[in-house]
Amino acid sequence: MVELVDAPHSKCGTFGFVGSSPTAPTKLMKTYQRFPLDLIKGKGCWVWDEKGEKYLDAVAGIATCSLGHSNKALTKALSKQLRTLQHVSNLYGIPEQEELAQWLTSNSFAKSAFFCNSGAEANEAAIKLARKYGHIKRNIENPIILCSKESFHGRTLAAISATGQPKYHKGFEPMVNGFMFFSYNDDVSFENLFDDLEKTGSQIAAVLIEPIQGEGGVNVGKKSFFQLVRSKCSSSNVLLIFDEVQTGMGRTGTLWGYEQLGIEPDVITLAKGLGGGHAIGALLVNELADVFEPGDHASTFGGNPFACRAALTVGRELQKRDLLNKIKQRGHQLKEGLINLSAKYSDIFISTRGVGLIQGLVLNDNIKTTSLDIVKYVLKEKLLLVSAGSKVLRIVPPLTITKKEINELLTRLDKCLMKLS
Ligand SMILES: *Cc1c(COP(=O)(O)O)cnc(C)c1O
Repeated sequence: MVELVDAPHSKCGTFGFVGSSPTAPTKLMKTYQRFPLDLIKGKGCWVWDEKGEKYLDAVAGIATCSLGHSNKALTKALSKQLRTLQHVSNLYGIPEQEELAQWLTSNSFAKSAFFCNSGAEANEAAIKLARKYGHIKRNIENPIILCSKESFHGRTLAAISATGQPKYHKGFEPMVNGFMFFSYNDDVSFENLFDDLEKTGSQIAAVLIEPIQGEGGVNVGKKSFFQLVRSKCSSSNVLLIFDEVQTGMGRTGTLWGYEQLGIEPDVITLAKGLGGGHAIGALLVNELADVFEPGDHASTFGGNPFACRAALTVGRELQKRDLLNKIKQRGHQLKEGLINLSAKYSDIFISTRGVGLIQGLVLNDNIKTTSLDIVKYVLKEKLLLVSAGSKVLRIVPPLTITKKEINELLTRLDKCLMKLS
């Protein structure tokens, strides 16, 4: 028999960063390289560490805390939900889930929704859906899914297999097969791969792609490229799946990233900002892609009342507070500021890219400084940023960030860069 003991209140260990010694022996696996601070409190765009230091948060749980921290509407709705019903099972009807599916389909191209708990899971569901579609609608024996290089689709085995970055595969081979890769925004690369496969017997079930590559370096999708992809998919009955885990729910200033590209996909996957900091993922499909039958897919926690209430509240706050317009304005303000910084520190940066409140500052390849170096450096100015690959600094604040806070963000960044250059 195990005697139960209590866990002492403890601080996180900080693996991996030079100059930061683990503050306490950690019982956590070594999966994360953590910065040497524990966050214990948040309000709006601000978070506090255990010493009481206050940080401006332009990470937002990696594009996740869309309404900021401790948002009033979310706290109120979720407190009520906690007192009402938290979790049952998909064995039964869940009104909050139905309501969320209504909200999402009323405000998008989609006809129906499936709920899970994370981005990787949503992509897993999309991959299964694409294969089923290939089998039953196209009679394909070995359905292939085309994905882009530099993409990111999550950390489960099928999701890393779909991710076009070898660093995520290393050590976990063999990958799941059935994925092939083209270069993002590259008409020729895409058309060649697509046409070659079609010639050998049309085995492509789907194309899986991000409207903006987030982790891959804030690469913004080109309209003309995506229109080509859409038309090739349509004429060959290939599903077009958008991974909108990072771009969905308003991040770009439109509710969905696909609206920026003037086309509609057949399927989108969502997570990150959907729950405003709470775990929920979703798969939205149109009529053509609606191929799952009872028993095909499931999730124990997926679409529970609490998670659905969180997402419903985020959606309604986006509407009520006219946030999409505000995101556009704040996005322009941020972009302008970043363009100025990029010009002022042209020894460090070569450009900026992004849409709305997903922005990136691109570092010069010819210097040793990495985006992680700068992320560590701006921590001293009490600013939280996150890198997107080794050469892009990513800025994804809460969607509720104010004009004044964006100015503050730019001022803090400027102060750091002045010392760096
Ligand atoms: C973060 C992310 C994922 C993975 O989401 P998890 O919730 O971490 O599984 C997948 N796709 C994109 C585009 C992402 O940004």
